[in-house]
Amino acid sequence: MEVISVIPRRLDVINKYKEQGGYVAAVLPIHYPRALLRAFNVLPVEVWGPPRVDTSHGATHLQPYICSIVHNTLSFLQMGGLDITDVIIIPHACDSLQGLGSVLLDFVPPDKPIVPIYLPRGRRESDIVFLTREFYAIYQRLEAITGRAPSDADLMKSIRREEGADEVLIKLHQSHSCLPLTDIAFYRLIRSREYLPAETFIELAQAVLAKDIKKPRDGIPILLSGIVPEPMSLLEAISEMGAMVVADDLACCGRRLYPPGRSGDPLRRMAERIIYAPPDPTRGNPIRERREHLLRLIENSGAKGVVFYDVKFCEPELFDLPTLRCELQKAKVPSVTVEVDINDPLSHQTLTRIEAFLEILNERR
Ligand code: SF4
Repeated sequence: MEVISVIPRRLDVINKYKEQGGYVAAVLPIHYPRALLRAFNVLPVEVWGPPRVDTSHGATHLQPYICSIVHNTLSFLQMGGLDITDVIIIPHACDSLQGLGSVLLDFVPPDKPIVPIYLPRGRRESDIVFLTREFYAIYQRLEAITGRAPSDADLMKSIRREEGADEVLIKLHQSHSCLPLTDIAFYRLIRSREYLPAETFIELAQAVLAKDIKKPRDGIPILLSGIVPEPMSLLEAISEMGAMVVADDLACCGRRLYPPGRSGDPLRRMAERIIYAPPDPTRGNPIRERREHLLRLIENSGAKGVVFYDVKFCEPELFDLPTLRCELQKAKVPSVTVEVDINDPLSHQTLTRIEAFLEILNERR
């Protein structure tokens, strides 16, 4: 579809933003306040690895049992892949990212500021207060880096723009199975939110939503859970096997459908948006909430089973999986789990495992 073919390339977006006097932040997974960065004229560009990097550069500083996203990020950084950025933001989503933050702050400091984000692990009032204060600390860091000091009105304007982008993102997810897009085209579009300015993303997304909604595509409907669908050829393989992704609980996609905030205080409003996002093990949400969320997604989307597509050595995912799968089994929802290294091509073993699972789902239809 033509809209997909005109998604701007990441490097072009970065260069254009910088030519217009803006800054660029390399942002590691998973949750961070986009609106706060944009209020300082800093474009967040997310770094999920990237895949297919020579990991020998970072391997001397990391244990072999750290996930490939962190290994790749450090290697990419040391190879000069983040030279074009002005600041590196590291949310402490997990011990591996926290470890990477320490390596960069204490052992191999890059020539740019490192800004960690400490995320609370719950949804209590104290968690909102903590995250609001954390964002105030980040405000002060960005003020020192950029020399700007956005007012509350500037912050609120930036928040409303991001809320607008997230609203269309939610609509895309809700209309997914009826859109004239293959799974890989759909995920290319929604993953462009990882680096496009919100206003550009809104334009692209609205062009897709304005197309005629078709009747739902045909195929074995599945829910995809995990961290990130890399390599993206996974989505083509799933389509070729006669299945379609009708909902997702991916850290890079469905777990970041942030609701609008409520508070009139901009920093608190940004905190609320993250705290009340769909449940995520990296934010410490209980398995009970994840189970209810998955069952709701399954009911609304008509998914017949869940594929847990996880990055090897991802502790937050692995801690939840046994209980979560057991709970799904009790609800008569079949699931399968596969683990990947984001550097590897899709293996026959992975494909065979998914194919066997889809055959089981097909027989139950
Ligand atoms: S894949 Fe898991 S362990 Fe690795 S950075 Fe993401 S959340 Fe952390």
